[in-house]
Amino acid sequence: MNQSPPVNVIVKVTRDCNFHCEYCHDTAISTDTISFQVLAQTIAKFFKQSAKHNFRFIWHGGEPLLLGIEFFLKALALQSEFISDGQHVQNTLQTNGYLLDDNFANFFRDYNFTIGLSLDGPEGLHDLQRRNVHGQPTFQRVMKAVSRLQRLDIPFGVLTVFTSKTLLIPPRALFDFYRQHGIQCVAFLPVRSNCNLEGENLPASNFHEYMMEAFDEWLYINDANFEVREFKELIALALGLPGTQCSSSGNCLGTTFSVEPNGGIYICDKFVGDQKFLLGAIFEADFDSHKVTQAFNGLHQWVNRISEECIKCDWRNNCGGGCPHDRYLQERLGTVSSGCSFAKLLAHVRQRVIDHPSIREIDMNKFII
Ligand code: SF4
Ligand code: SF4
Repeated sequence: MNQSPPVNVIVKVTRDCNFHCEYCHDTAISTDTISFQVLAQTIAKFFKQSAKHNFRFIWHGGEPLLLGIEFFLKALALQSEFISDGQHVQNTLQTNGYLLDDNFANFFRDYNFTIGLSLDGPEGLHDLQRRNVHGQPTFQRVMKAVSRLQRLDIPFGVLTVFTSKTLLIPPRALFDFYRQHGIQCVAFLPVRSNCNLEGENLPASNFHEYMMEAFDEWLYINDANFEVREFKELIALALGLPGTQCSSSGNCLGTTFSVEPNGGIYICDKFVGDQKFLLGAIFEADFDSHKVTQAFNGLHQWVNRISEECIKCDWRNNCGGGCPHDRYLQERLGTVSSGCSFAKLLAHVRQRVIDHPSIREIDMNKFII
């Protein structure tokens, strides 16, 4: 198999959701669901990118499981129809887990899906932030989904959205929670406002400060079966290796696309709502068509306009200036500040790598989400 990094397409199969999470404004954008025509065009055109070999579909919402197994059977049939010899595809699905019953679990196992499951940590915090549309708590039911995935040995990782409330839980308590429930892979996502500047935007400095303490705690517990995606990424960057996460490679243009239920193509779903980042529509453009490329080139200038601080920074080749959407929010919210906290976090991890050479032996290939 060709080892080139995959090109990702985030397919927003529906904007509808059975949750009403405190920090989420997705359903304010629309509650549309993808049509068969948009789905078929997306799959056909994604595989048509002739220079690419590895593809990753990230089935996303809203809540994708609202569409039922039948929808995903159609998507798999379309993939079989349009994939070419020498191309390889991986399917990943991001869910809140509420509808993840035995039927879905068997389906994911049978078709080799990897799963990202949203869980905001211990019951009290999770239920405060992630209630269903009827205002009811969801923790107990999501934990049943965790048990199902574990029972069937389906590769999954937990995605925890970090808010100012998460920062009040000491890293050790958070790690104890995951490990007590046999959760072996977690990812931490700082909460971000949307393009209308709605919702909490966790300051990068607060998040990175927490991550320094959490990294040390993770080293201290020294549990080879407990992986934090961001820590592995930080170690890779500190060792001078390329990052694998979009947000630490600094240039996601061309490696990630996002398709909305109405067929709009964006560079990333975080930019939905700002027409400047709309690359085209799936019915009138290919992913590498002239039209999309032109829109891309316009955005390249914006994405590559990194700050004086980044230009002078030692980490620039590793980090590339960070997530363009974070920079976009900082500019719009007027929170651009000097003294990059990510650079401090990277320096902290580099020092630990020097102090603990055994860190270099960590398996860097085991990312699930
Ligand atoms: S804008 Fe940020 S989150 Fe979106 S794909 Fe780019 S780096 Fe990733
Ligand atoms: S200043 Fe921060 S964002 Fe810029 S290149 Fe350095 S580490 Fe990355």
